[in-house]
Amino acid sequence: MEFDVVIVGAGPSGLATAIRLRQLSEEKGTDLSVCIVEKGSEVGAHILSGAVLEPRSLNELLPDWKERGAPLNTPVTDDRLLFLTRGSAMRLPTPPQMHNEGNYIISLGNLCRWLGEQAENLGVEIFPGFAAAEVLYDDGGAVRGIATGDMGVGLDGEHKASFEPGVELLARQTIFAEGCHGSLTKTLFERFDLRKGVDPQTYGIGIKELWEIDPAKHKQGQVIHTIGWPLDSSTYGGSFVYHLEDNQLAIGFVVGLDYENPYLSPFDEMQRFKTHPRIRRMLEGGRRISYGARALNEGGLQSIPKLTFPGGLLVGDTAGFLNVPKIKGTHTAMKSGMVAAEAVYDALAGDAGGAREVEDYRQRLEDTWVWEELRRVRNIRPSFRWGLWGGMLYGGIDTYLLRGHAPWTLHHHADYALTKKASECRVIEYPKPDGTITFDKPSSVYLANTVHEEDQPVHLRLKDPDVPIRVNLPEYGAPEERFCPAGVYEIVDEGDGKRLQINAQNCVHCKTCDIKDTTQNIDWVTPEGGSGPNYPNM
Ligand SMILES: Cc1cc2nc3c(=O)[nH]c(=O)nc-3n(C[C@H](O)[C@H](O)[C@H](O)COP(=O)(O)OP(=O)(O)OC[C@H]3O[C@@H](n4cnc5c(N)ncnc54)[C@H](O)[C@@H]3O)c2cc1C
Ligand code: SF4
Repeated sequence: MEFDVVIVGAGPSGLATAIRLRQLSEEKGTDLSVCIVEKGSEVGAHILSGAVLEPRSLNELLPDWKERGAPLNTPVTDDRLLFLTRGSAMRLPTPPQMHNEGNYIISLGNLCRWLGEQAENLGVEIFPGFAAAEVLYDDGGAVRGIATGDMGVGLDGEHKASFEPGVELLARQTIFAEGCHGSLTKTLFERFDLRKGVDPQTYGIGIKELWEIDPAKHKQGQVIHTIGWPLDSSTYGGSFVYHLEDNQLAIGFVVGLDYENPYLSPFDEMQRFKTHPRIRRMLEGGRRISYGARALNEGGLQSIPKLTFPGGLLVGDTAGFLNVPKIKGTHTAMKSGMVAAEAVYDALAGDAGGAREVEDYRQRLEDTWVWEELRRVRNIRPSFRWGLWGGMLYGGIDTYLLRGHAPWTLHHHADYALTKKASECRVIEYPKPDGTITFDKPSSVYLANTVHEEDQPVHLRLKDPDVPIRVNLPEYGAPEERFCPAGVYEIVDEGDGKRLQINAQNCVHCKTCDIKDTTQNIDWVTPEGGSGPNYPNM
């Protein structure tokens, strides 16, 4: 199938790109064909975010979003930053980046569903349930599209009766909007050396639950962030607690993946966080209705790769435009898509050929508020290498005294390389789940509605199958059992020696294993299209 533009991923960045392309096409009376492939079973099924939305890009893209019925129903009314110790909570002044006046508490999944409708109304073709599994190149080495994965291949690699070969989607420009740590994007990094001269990308993992709480305790519009307990002061992270509509509470915990202790379990830190008296009070009498996890970018400006290559470009979190001090990436992801759309439209207009590099996309983006916003906060996240207190002190100086104009740039290291040997670290004992406020992984994954046909090739590929037992277990205490928030990795011993069991059907597509595996031995590839979580409104 041939299109002018193929977009990989129906998240906010991919959808904003598609909408802007078709808007331009309508305005100028041309008929640019645009399609999106989405690996989730429907638009929004794989979307997990906080989320407080800064509506700046949405205002620019669809200024009449209110009349069109966009699901932005909860303006932020109250903003709190708390420092937790084991038994107490102290209110801190809210730094300017975390002020949320004019912002909305939303379900990003629902916003994407709505954006998907707007895109379809403009003539965009969306193919949910299809994973882009392979990048296609022409003879000159330029990207010429993608191929979706084959369906109906068995665990043994043999074709089943239901076999359907993947489809080639060819385009004059292919836009990668895969979100944080895209599986095709990482192959493009290598092929076109896009990360040359920039810092490694760094990440956090966000574990999120959706609760329905006692109406008497619900404060629609309230936003709470916490730092401190249960993390020690050398581990970066904190929580978010957002009071949505309908007595719902979005509660989540983010841990920087540069943590050193391989015994740390982000999932269990989240469970422990909920036992803090201040948080427990809110949840008691309520009911957990959904669970999920997703990695997010924390590298900022100094980790942004080269954005273009012959035949395509990167938008949104797959490139890494998240503003960490704001804990927001949706507005920047959307804006990058809109700017990319304008650059691509101009490049394709009147140019019958394809596969050229839209080089001016980067300059156009650098000329927008996105770049200035990221430039100003670029030193805050890396300053937390000096621990919580060092980072907060530096953050205060950078924000209030230097106002983001420091003449230096602090740098990042790859997260996986910072994990210490197990012998150098203390074992962390986590409390047992109580089944009302805290839970185990299996009952949590159940609420992610994750579905993978079991008779399909494992989509978590080990480059060397011996490494988990030969290296990871003795040297790092098998950290994959803990950093995976879905219990996919288990060391088992059935009498014939230890081996790593991969319960791939539990995977919620957070990408943490591909990022944090100390030996970089795990390669996350797309499973059959439509597999993975089915988040209703995360
Ligand atoms: C826990 C957490 C809390 C956050 N809180 C906030 C917040 O409060 N406010 C805020 O503004 N931002 C927040 N963010 C960040 C925000 O969610 C992201 O910046 C934003 O979602 C990025 O949009 P995107 O379109 O680039 O990627 P995504 O939203 O990740 O969308 C990517 C889409 O591409 C699809 N896809 C990926 N690979 C393929 C493939 N190969 N083939 C087909 N489809 C594919 C995915 O299924 C997905 O639907 C948070 C993130 C997390 C994880
Ligand atoms: S297997 Fe990897 S991508 Fe899947 S849930 Fe576990 S850590 Fe995340």
